[in-house]
Amino acid sequence: MKSTGIVRKVDELGRIVLPIELRRTYDLAVKDAIEIYTDDDKIILKKFQRTCIFCGSGEECVEYKGKTICAACMAELKGEAK
Ligand SMILES: [Zn+2]
Repeated sequence: MKSTGIVRKVDELGRIVLPIELRRTYDLAVKDAIEIYTDDDKIILKKFQRTCIFCGSGEECVEYKGKTICAACMAELKGEAK
């Protein structure tokens, strides 16, 4: 795990500002969803990305009946496997 050397204070509502350099590096735009993980004494923030329920891929995913499925698995299901 790399230190950024950045220290930020939590405000009255529990918010912190992610520095613009980090938002650029991690391609975070306004309203993007962030997933929050914990690991012992750490809080880990990760850009939320929908992944395929079958293979876990994040590529070309679409939503179908409330589930996420990738184009490759969709093709397989349709019998169009490569
Ligand atoms: Zn898939």
